[in-house]
Amino acid sequence: MSQPVPFTYDGGRVDPGERQNIRYTVTETYLGDPVRIPVTIINGEKPGPTMFLSAAAHGDELNGIEVVRTVAHSWDHDELAGTLVCLPVLNVPGFVAQQRYLPIYDRDLNRSFPGNPDSTSAKRVAYSIFNNFIEPCDFGIDFHTSTRGRTNMLHIRAAMDNPAVERLAKAFASHVIIDKEGPDGSLRKEACDAGVPTMVVEMGEAHRFQRDFIDRGLSGVNSVLAEFGLRETESVNWPGWQAVIAEREERTWIRADAGGLMDIRVGYGDLVYEGKTIAEITNPFQTEVTEVTAPFTGLLVGVAENPLVYPGNPLCHLVRVDERTQLAIEQNG
Ligand SMILES: [Zn+2]
Repeated sequence: MSQPVPFTYDGGRVDPGERQNIRYTVTETYLGDPVRIPVTIINGEKPGPTMFLSAAAHGDELNGIEVVRTVAHSWDHDELAGTLVCLPVLNVPGFVAQQRYLPIYDRDLNRSFPGNPDSTSAKRVAYSIFNNFIEPCDFGIDFHTSTRGRTNMLHIRAAMDNPAVERLAKAFASHVIIDKEGPDGSLRKEACDAGVPTMVVEMGEAHRFQRDFIDRGLSGVNSVLAEFGLRETESVNWPGWQAVIAEREERTWIRADAGGLMDIRVGYGDLVYEGKTIAEITNPFQTEVTEVTAPFTGLLVGVAENPLVYPGNPLCHLVRVDERTQLAIEQNG
């Protein structure tokens, strides 16, 4: 591409060298008022790829919002080669209600893509977003977090058998990439199927702004922009070690076998060895102690933050790593 091109959507256009903050109508309330999502489009003066950054498809997952907002409004884009489509809050009704799903029938927006203009409310919203702001892009990143009460270490979810997705995933420079296709109807899978390579970044917990995750998310975005030439003066990061964990690898949610108060002894991102105590669950009198141990040596990708547990509650998400990765983690910390 030798000439920069305008970015167009239904109702507008953003020329090279121009930036637009818009509130884009995706549906209406019961009162007939517009429900609008914030969108910032930055079209660089130089030619280059078009990339989207999206967050809060699940309305209560906030860390990504801050990443997308910061990229859109705090970074200097004078030298941008290409176009950024920034969608900090996809699920505005869920965001307003501080909940994961669209409040109307509790629909999951992230199972409603690519959407349909003649179908359910969720699919109409999804269609409006997908058609205008996702499909015109060359690739993108969708930010998520764990649910309330659990924290995920920062990791990528990507279908690594797609070379364009693999390039994107590696460029983010996270320690862990889980190689897995997204579920049907998710923004990630449907965008990939429509020819827009997309990955998910999982980081932290819902309902919070967690500064360390946000900063690492921003560093990952900068690295991706460098890899694809949107920010020519920046460089691609290397995280020290990187594990691509195949779907067939052993992964498990370790669950509580007793109700009680949990004292967790590990943190997300820790390497734990087989047989090691992960947590103790005690009754109110501290007369009964149930030890939870690691069934195999692996990496803790997610951990519970809530100390109150019922039998069956997931306590942590353990993923087996091969010996080479284990060694790399031990050497690099
Ligand atoms: Zn999510």
